[in-house]
Amino acid sequence: MPSAEELDATDPLRAKRQQFHLPPGTIYLDGNSLGPMPLAARERAREVVEQQWAADLITSWNQHAWIDLPETVGEKIAPLLGAGPGQVICCDSISVNLFKLLAAALRLNPGRNRILSQQDNFPTDLYVSQGLSQLLGHENCELVTVAKNEIESALGEDIAVLLLTQVNFRSGYAHDIQRMTELAHAKGILVVWDLAHSAGVMPLELDRWNVDFAVGCGYKYLNGGPGAPAFLYAAKTHQGELHQPIAGWMGHQNPFAFDSEYQASGDIKQFLAGTPPILSMSVLDAALSVYSDIAIDDVREKSLGLADFFALRVAQAPELSSLKLASPLDHDQRGGQLAYEHDHAYAICQALIAEGVIADFRSPNILRFGFSPLYLSYQDIAVATARLGKILATEQFLQPEFNRKNKVT
Ligand SMILES: *Cc1c(COP(=O)(O)O)cnc(C)c1O
Repeated sequence: MPSAEELDATDPLRAKRQQFHLPPGTIYLDGNSLGPMPLAARERAREVVEQQWAADLITSWNQHAWIDLPETVGEKIAPLLGAGPGQVICCDSISVNLFKLLAAALRLNPGRNRILSQQDNFPTDLYVSQGLSQLLGHENCELVTVAKNEIESALGEDIAVLLLTQVNFRSGYAHDIQRMTELAHAKGILVVWDLAHSAGVMPLELDRWNVDFAVGCGYKYLNGGPGAPAFLYAAKTHQGELHQPIAGWMGHQNPFAFDSEYQASGDIKQFLAGTPPILSMSVLDAALSVYSDIAIDDVREKSLGLADFFALRVAQAPELSSLKLASPLDHDQRGGQLAYEHDHAYAICQALIAEGVIADFRSPNILRFGFSPLYLSYQDIAVATARLGKILATEQFLQPEFNRKNKVT
């Protein structure tokens, strides 16, 4: 294995780090949860607040094209998803976008009422399905969940929609989107993919894989800032036949005609509901510029490289033998993160943060490390694993201050 210095010297993305603000002394292994701040994002925030809003006021909707931002940002995200034009829009949160898409997909597949998902899917995906089921009645919408290895056999002709998250938020296991989509389509099932832990780190080919619908996050690998709006993908082939239930004025064919009858826009804008959050959407727009001159394959390769380097150092350190890897090491089966189980995962995570290495904890016993390759170096990984080793060797995580639970973990 080459040294961290050697790996950094040949890293094609090493200069990208300069486009981020990273607090000195911090090694950030949590960009899969909240990406750090691109310098361009801060600049845009200032411009939007101090110039556009403060000085240009309402004229900014036209003058600074605020009204087009959901589409502009959607089109910037599209290449990262392998999506051609007119199919991605930036709006709302994943939760709200799932509600819109699941309702639309159920209507598109009449005679079937089931949404099939995975037991350990991200909870919001399951909650939104349960909420929709309560609203529509079980005869029209029923959520069925199975374990990961039972999905294929559950793909029957009673299923209307397959709802899966590509990269599991705990284990980092990654589904083969193309394969699962093909299997679902063979049974007449529509697919909705949650790309929260994929967009910006996994190479995606939604058009080529014939994906029907997808959603994803703006604030994780895309670095759009806390609570950044999400995105939604709807394949062009379906756009003429959809009915999404949050029929708001921004999704109308002609919002400024102020008609009293709703007429959905015929294109991807039909998924808009209310006024876009211009401050946060502008910041996400600027943040996406860091992707403008890099190849997603390089991003993926480095993310895997950083994680492999991390896993190897953990495996070779006797003081880290109590950490149990809970992610697949096979590149075809994993996303951009690694999970380790430990009975004291929460306290270890807190002790690590106190040492300047930010990772996160996922209940009940998972220590999660994200390898966002735009600003991390192999040296960072070497330092992080050394600090982790020291914390475990000295058992400093047992101190009471590291064992008090915070509201957000
Ligand atoms: C982070 C995350 C979400 C977040 O949903 P929001 O409604 O945008 O808060 C959804 N799904 C998955 C898989 C996630 O990891």
